Amino acid sequence: MKKNLFIAIEGLDGSGKSTQIKPLAENLKVLGHNVYTTAEPTQSRIGLMIRDIFKHKMEADHRTIAALYAADRLEHVLNKKDGILKKLEEGYTVITDRYYFSSYAYHGTHMDMDWVIEINSLVADLLRPDLNIFIDAPIDVCVKRLNKGRSLTELYEDEENLNQVRKKYFEAFEKLKQSEKIFIADGNRLAETISKDIWNEVSQILTLETKTQ
Ligand code: ADP
Repeated sequence: MKKNLFIAIEGLDGSGKSTQIKPLAENLKVLGHNVYTTAEPTQSRIGLMIRDIFKHKMEADHRTIAALYAADRLEHVLNKKDGILKKLEEGYTVITDRYYFSSYAYHGTHMDMDWVIEINSLVADLLRPDLNIFIDAPIDVCVKRLNKGRSLTELYEDEENLNQVRKKYFEAFEKLKQSEKIFIADGNRLAETISKDIWNEVSQILTLETKTQ
């Protein structure tokens, strides 16, 4: 039986995370993996509260939002019914659309990244991804993919912020390169080309895992 993996897909909205999860899951299934795909924020009550904040139905300070994400992530991992640890125990390979690097990057633009890392340390000690895949597409490409038709001037503020988030992703990767396995895929190419790169990386991990079993 193949070792089941835990893979986190990271990147800005519009970078192509969902697009890449599909072929990755299919490739893993062909090798005999049972694949469970999931995403953050979750559909838990905590995740729904985060969504409400983004929909401006509720107001909260950035520090509160960062703490809610950490709580949602703990629930994502520990939920007894369908938490990631439970799914891994059941033999699934789990792919999550966003995990703690999203918090480091997005909240790191508003507050000290070390604090964000600290409040996520419990979850990081519980479960580190076998691989963090960052799909790196230029900001204007992500924004265009998401908002076909809107002008760049209209989007200037969004772009400024997204630029900061991208920088923070790289800052976090540099900071944590000793403890994390990170693969950066150039997301500004054909989706099929990116999928091949990702599969190449995941295959290498699977081969290594098989050898060390
Ligand atoms: P994310 O999940 O990161 O927000 P999606 O996978 O939903 O991004 O992709 C956002 C949009 O960009 C979708 O319309 C998708 O079809 C398109 N897209 C994704 N990857 C590519 C790519 N490599 N080239 C061109 N368009 C893409």
